[in-house]
Amino acid sequence: MHRVQYCLWSGLSWLAAIAAMAAGESSAPQLLSPSPVLHFINTSFENGSPLQWRVDADGTVQIFLLYDYERNSPNRAAGHWHFQLQGQPGSELLLVLNNFENIYNGRLGSPVSKKSICYSSSDGKRWKAVPVEFLEGNRLRLRVRFDGPALYLARLEPYGLGDLERLLDEIRRKRLVEITEIGKTVQGRPLEIVRVGNPKAAHRVLVRARAHAWEPGGSWVAQGLIRGLLSNDEVARRCLQRYCLYVVPMANKDGVGHGATRFNLLGKDLNRDWNQPADPFLAPENHALEEWLKGIAAQGKAPQLALDLHNDEDGKLHVGRPPVVNIEQYVERMRFLETLLRKHTWFREGIYLAPQGVSSGTLGSGLVERYGIDGCTLELNCNRVAGLGQYPSAQAWEEFGRGLRQVFYEYFGSR
Ligand SMILES: [Zn+2]
Repeated sequence: MHRVQYCLWSGLSWLAAIAAMAAGESSAPQLLSPSPVLHFINTSFENGSPLQWRVDADGTVQIFLLYDYERNSPNRAAGHWHFQLQGQPGSELLLVLNNFENIYNGRLGSPVSKKSICYSSSDGKRWKAVPVEFLEGNRLRLRVRFDGPALYLARLEPYGLGDLERLLDEIRRKRLVEITEIGKTVQGRPLEIVRVGNPKAAHRVLVRARAHAWEPGGSWVAQGLIRGLLSNDEVARRCLQRYCLYVVPMANKDGVGHGATRFNLLGKDLNRDWNQPADPFLAPENHALEEWLKGIAAQGKAPQLALDLHNDEDGKLHVGRPPVVNIEQYVERMRFLETLLRKHTWFREGIYLAPQGVSSGTLGSGLVERYGIDGCTLELNCNRVAGLGQYPSAQAWEEFGRGLRQVFYEYFGSR
């Protein structure tokens, strides 16, 4: 899909010209000059975020992110940005990011705050955190410098469709790996589930990443976990004797490819409505996962634990409490899971207990309610890794995934 990018004429110049014409004066619109610093904003690559922009008279570049919308809902979301500035080497640019008036669960909310940060890269591969300023009116301002002719900016270190392809190529011929296409996305992209380990192992864990397109942390964690279990070190061998891992490394592939923020391309939130069967046409990504789950459950091999990976500004382990019997025993197991996360990874953010008796429709809650699987949501803090005292990075998230190996090992050892 071609994305529309254009530089708006200064609204004030237009208003002045229209007012002059209305007053019967003859006036030509003011002749505008191109910016001497910014040549273009390129979003014509996979995971590039759709946006509009203009350059103010003082040279400030105003970026307007585009929202994606939920079907039959007031909800809308814009929180992902990933674009390439093309400009004059050696010069500096002031940017303002706009359109963070998100609607989440029916309420106005913002995906950014005083804690927000941004990442920059000259080659789109090596990223560093850059400070941003939170402005009144829910906007972010940052100053960047062109060391060369181009500079990428992104909300977080991107993990795109190409990164996933490289991972799948790296592992597909390894022993104990099976990559299964379980269905297709709205746009027909193949949806993979990766098995690592022996399907006859006594325990099974399901990990899903990237239901929400703007949240790359889960994909990095999934990659670190898969690589860790395939490293053939002593820990990996011990883990694979105890459990088998199933991973959906990227649930919302269309959204990731399009640089969208949250919903699938037909406006479904892939972390909602799990308290009922998924609609195969509107949410084929969820339908495919549920069909796979029903198949494996029919063989008596359903996973006993499921972790749905996300990013947010709090970074907590979210534990739903849907209306089922024995919910307190489940909550106790989730508290144990939290202690294991603290023991084997840099996780320090704590637990969020959802209200008692509420069927929230998240994947974690739906698996508890409908399949008796210990499901939960792990949010990864998008602004700060408290346990490391640093900004999040692909490396920190891969390391977290590696640590999950032992979290699962001890979790199943206690059962
Ligand atoms: Zn999410």
